[in-house]
Amino acid sequence: MSFESVKAQHDSALMPTYGRFPVILNHGRNATAFDDGGAEYIDFGSGIGVTSLGYCDPGYVKAVTTQLNMAQHFSNLYYNETQIDCAVSLCRRTGMARVFFGNSGAEANECAIKLARKYSFDKYGKGRSTVITLCNSFHGRTVTTLAATGQDVFHNYFFPFTGDFVYAPANDLDALKAMIDDTTCAVMIECVQGEGGVMPLDTAYIQGVRALCDQHDLLMIVDEVQTGIGRTGKLLAVEHADVKPDVVTLAKGLGGGLPIGACLCREGLEDVMGVGMHGSTFGGNPVVCAGAKYVLETVDNPDFLKMVSAKGDFARRRLETMPHVKEVRGMGLMLGVVLDDKVNAKDVANLCVKCGLLILTAKSLLRLLPPLTISKDELRRGLSILETVLKEWN
Ligand SMILES: *Cc1c(COP(=O)(O)O)cnc(C)c1O
Repeated sequence: MSFESVKAQHDSALMPTYGRFPVILNHGRNATAFDDGGAEYIDFGSGIGVTSLGYCDPGYVKAVTTQLNMAQHFSNLYYNETQIDCAVSLCRRTGMARVFFGNSGAEANECAIKLARKYSFDKYGKGRSTVITLCNSFHGRTVTTLAATGQDVFHNYFFPFTGDFVYAPANDLDALKAMIDDTTCAVMIECVQGEGGVMPLDTAYIQGVRALCDQHDLLMIVDEVQTGIGRTGKLLAVEHADVKPDVVTLAKGLGGGLPIGACLCREGLEDVMGVGMHGSTFGGNPVVCAGAKYVLETVDNPDFLKMVSAKGDFARRRLETMPHVKEVRGMGLMLGVVLDDKVNAKDVANLCVKCGLLILTAKSLLRLLPPLTISKDELRRGLSILETVLKEWN
């Protein structure tokens, strides 16, 4: 079928919520995707940081299909060891005490927000429900997580949004301090703002947030949906700041390509969410959990994480030598490329696709979130495609 007829069918059946690149993806191996005609694309996006072990990692496929051949789903009305094993592994490796499983980042954050408000309600009663998030943050697409998202462009059409979210400018501890009052219950941050333009928070700021949360008995929620599970070269990005959050949310890369969301809480918060207070029909699905456990155990290995950092450093150094590149920021294999005024990131990404490279944008930046397993050869080839594309402008 021609691209036009596939697009026409798409347009006749799907809500037009996505701006899509004109390519029909069909299958993939590690960091290389193939279109319906068999043409190759180096994948610097990994489905927005999702296929963390690349396409069809043999161990991942085996873990998932083994579970699929046993049973595809059990309700949370019953115990299942695949789900429990995944939870035990997550808690042990992150140092957190308990986990709730949902199906997406937004759902993980919904759980975190509910947990923070419930913690505060139990201790202080009503009226302490405000969550401070950061300007330029991104926390999801539900009505509540849109409210949590500190960007005006997301606050349209769908009124009324969930109340009691306020936005503090990032990396400004005095501003945060000034916003805390007796209605505040939590502060929610991304250690590297992803959708907001790959903006890392200062280490001192993250540590300062921890101190303010301790001082005012606020829960520190760290949204690691994009930064978590090895993306920045540590299992959790917050480890770079040597800080222990109260609540951590995970999704994207954790599932390796299958939908999962996880909200983890520290010791002492085990019983905040009681029976019947939260739930999900699909959350903790055993096939998804089998995959997530495999991803977790593969990534949480010092040699693997060292490789992520090394590949990130290699990519950064190459990117810094390319035309029109003003700045490269981010950590590990989460990189943002600031371009000069002569080029537009969307145009660059579009031309990259034509030349066999899938690359993301965030605001006006190019964004790289390749599979953590990307080979040096794939990385080199992708970078040289990008360089060739950037040379098209002068
Ligand atoms: C993608 C993302 C989300 C939302 O995740 P979904 O799975 O799309 O709901 C939330 N927070 C951050 C930091 C993200 O990058």
